[in-house]
Amino acid sequence: MQTILVTGGAGFIGSHTVRQLLKNNYKVVVFDNLFRGHAEAVPAGVDFEKVDLLDKKGLEEALARYKIDAVIHFAALAYVGESVSDPGWYYEVNTAGTVNLLNTITKAGISKIVFSSTCSLYGNAEHIPISENESLKPINPYAKSKYFIEQILADFNAAGKLSYIPLRYFNAAGCSPDGEIGESHEPETHLIPLVILNALGRGKQLKVFGADYDTPDGTCIRDYIHVLDLADAHLLALKHLLAGGTPDVFNLGTGTGYSVLEVIRKVEEISGKKVDYVVTGRREGDPATLVADNKKVKEKLGWNPVYGLDEIITHALNWYRNPKY
Ligand code: UDP
Repeated sequence: MQTILVTGGAGFIGSHTVRQLLKNNYKVVVFDNLFRGHAEAVPAGVDFEKVDLLDKKGLEEALARYKIDAVIHFAALAYVGESVSDPGWYYEVNTAGTVNLLNTITKAGISKIVFSSTCSLYGNAEHIPISENESLKPINPYAKSKYFIEQILADFNAAGKLSYIPLRYFNAAGCSPDGEIGESHEPETHLIPLVILNALGRGKQLKVFGADYDTPDGTCIRDYIHVLDLADAHLLALKHLLAGGTPDVFNLGTGTGYSVLEVIRKVEEISGKKVDYVVTGRREGDPATLVADNKKVKEKLGWNPVYGLDEIITHALNWYRNPKY
């Protein structure tokens, strides 16, 4: 049985990936500082270490307790606004923290890593849908902190120390269909949770950030990808590396975009409740349209996302009606 270290395994995408790994008979070790992760999201049968990537000694000591075959690295800060007001924090936690992780794992002889990257590396893309060939123009410190990590991974690879796959997510959403684990961010800034909480009568009035974009209804279009489809892509990337496959980078999205108003309508339709919203000004840094060209990952890894917006909203509604944490 192969053992996979998952950093940030108590977080949203990390916890769903941990469960998929267990279902596929991997042994899993989670490192998480629980700053924004949830201990309740880590299932029984997983070895858990509360450790911070900035604590080099703690990291080395924790790693020495296991024999790891590969790493999936999620642990990071992930709010754009926060990164703009405190860039040093983002570069320290995301970029320097990852350098600590890479130094520690490579010293321990671990040479395979799947990395949680983002479509925000493309900034305001020129071509829609966005393929991996689009030029990288990160426009905020969060995106840049991830961009630098991709460059650093390439340098470790050139030095013969690591084989790696960055996965560039579009808009991660949805929850486990069984309602056992879900999304719980504090503060919550993402569209789908906010629309659902509003429909359930638990949120403030929703602000639609701009209805004057160059899109059919004027609101921004995003490619919402179910967290379980994302988790499956991590397993495929992992298998590729474990089988000796070459480093590569992949976009993870469905290839279909929905506007903010379409998401609101869909939540109203599925929940049977009205959403209370108001159109306000644009949010800084929001590109009009972000939709993935996912041909490469389908061809090279055989990934095939199975969930659409209906399931994303149905599963998330199920979770928010009865959140476990
Ligand atoms: N959005 C919105 N109101 C909100 C939160 C988000 O209108 O309260 C819009 C946002 O401008 C973007 C889309 O919903 O066009 C998705 O935003 P989210 O923060 O979920 O993800 P992002 O695209 O920023 O990664």
